[in-house]
Order: sequence, then C-alpha cells, then structure tokens
Amino acid sequence: SNQLMAGKRGLIMGLANDKSIAWGIARALSNAGAELAFSYQGEALKKRVDPLAAQLGSDMVLPCDVSDEASIDALFTELNERWGGLDFLVHAIGFSDKNELRGRYVDTSRANFALSMDISVYSFTAVVQRAEKMMKSGGACLTLTYYGAERVMPHYNVMGVAKAALEASVRYLAEDLGKDGIRVNAISAGPIKTLAASGIGDFRYIMKWNEYNSPLRRNVTIDDVGGSALYLLSDLGAGTTGEVLHVDAGYHVVGMKAVDAPDI
Ligand code: NAD
Repeated sequence: SNQLMAGKRGLIMGLANDKSIAWGIARALSNAGAELAFSYQGEALKKRVDPLAAQLGSDMVLPCDVSDEASIDALFTELNERWGGLDFLVHAIGFSDKNELRGRYVDTSRANFALSMDISVYSFTAVVQRAEKMMKSGGACLTLTYYGAERVMPHYNVMGVAKAALEASVRYLAEDLGKDGIRVNAISAGPIKTLAASGIGDFRYIMKWNEYNSPLRRNVTIDDVGGSALYLLSDLGAGTTGEVLHVDAGYHVVGMKAVDAPDI
C-alpha cells in the first residue's frame, strides 16, 4: 500500500460486482489511503455492492439511477450532508440496448440512440455538475471510454458514437473546471470481461484479437485500469486534464502486425 490518496474522499459510480472496472479502480484508490463512497443502480445490486464496499472499509453505499435528475440530486445531497466536500469522482457507467450492440450501426433506432447518449454521455456531465459544487479545494473526475470512439470496432455501433461524445465532453469539462483546480480525464480501457461487455456481440473474439495484436500481447485487467486511475486521480496526475489515457496494452498504436504476429 501507498499513501497517495491519504485524506482524500471520493465517490465511485458503476460498481456492479467484483468484475467491474469500478472495482479495480476502487481497490487501487483504497490501497492508496482514499476514503470511498459507492453508488449503485437498483435494489438488486445493493446486496452485491454492500459487501464489496465493506471489504474496503466503506459503509457509504447509496442508490443512484443516472437517468433520473432527482436521483442524482438525492445522492449528492446525502454525500454533502455526510462529507461536506469531495476530492474525486469516478464515473464507470454505460448503457445501450444489447440488441443494437450487434449487426449494423446504420440500423440504430432513435430511441436507443437517445437512451445510450443519455446514460453513457450526459450522465457524466450531470454528475460532474454536482461534484463541482463539493470540490471546494479542487478535485479530479474520471470516466471510462473505449477505442470504438476513435475507430470502427465490430458490434460497438451506437456505443462508439456515444464514447466519442463522452471524450469530447471530457475536453469541454476540463476547460470549464480547470480554473477551479478540478481536473477531468478519461481512461480508454482495452476489452475486459464484465457484465456490460457481455452484451457486446462476439466479445470473446474481440478479446482474442486484442490479445494477439496489442504490443504487450495480452489483455488488460481491472487492476491495470486501477493503477492508471490512481495516477490520474492523485497528485501524480496534477498536470494532466482533458486527457484520454489508453490502458489497452498498446493496441491503439498498432496499424498492422507482421505476418508472424500471433506469436503467443
Ligand atoms: P459493469 O457492468 O461492471 O459496469 C457498468 C455499470 O453501469 C453497472 O454498475 C451498472 O449498474 C451501471 N449503470 C448502467 N445504467 C445505469 C444507470 N441508469 N444509472 C446508474 N448506473 C448505471 O461493466 P464495466 O465494463 O465495468 O463498465 C464500466 C465502464 O467502463 C462503462 O462506461 C464501459 O463502457 C466502460 N468500458 C468498458 C470496457 C470493457 O471492455 N469492459 C472497455 C472500455 C470501457
């Protein structure tokens, strides 16, 4: 353990189970001395999140559905009453109808386009808006994105369009909040087998492709993402804002592999 986050308090949004990227991030932050609160969506998840939070010494497990403004307000009111301030925020939330995470992007419905943008893009702005008011002495916010924002990836479809918008919003938020000492960044994670990812068509094949074709010739873990999140959320990352940091075993730098590439 290290003390990079000693005395810092933060909210982790998007923990569903011990496979969640939010869990890798929470562990890394807790290990660095941070005090954590968690928000979960829906009563069914509470019984999974409670014991995980307890493992990291937290009993602050609060409901929040980010599609509902009143629910977001209730979360931040509660957080403000308990803590009065906030040092960091992790947004590890995304959603799209899984029927549209296969087949062609061109067939995306208006309803699911709007839903995906609402939950996967606007929600980050909505929570940063509330967090800003609690980050009186500066702070750091982090969201999660994917390479499908930059290049066409099979089946990612409307989520690719949503992640592109999310990455753009990171840059706008960074500019707005920079003068208050609040940093806003994203991690672009390589494919990881989580609940959300299991909705994506051919996900096993995508993971294999990444493993064969990335410079490190492996997939990343939630602990890899946790380490990079710790960098961005701690004072180690003090000079970095508006950034999209790739934690993808280097996959995004490769244009083409040599003929003998599948060498693992
Ligand atoms: P996950 O299923 O563990 O987490 C997704 C979370 O989103 C869940 O906790 C779910 O409850 C929450 N959520 C969905 N709708 C919500 C709503 N309306 N209100 C509140 N919470 C809601 O999966 P994950 O892969 O850990 O996903 C976390 C983030 O990482 C997502 O933004 C995802 O797009 C991103 N990401 C995942 C991968 C991957 O391969 N797994 C790669 C890059 C980026």
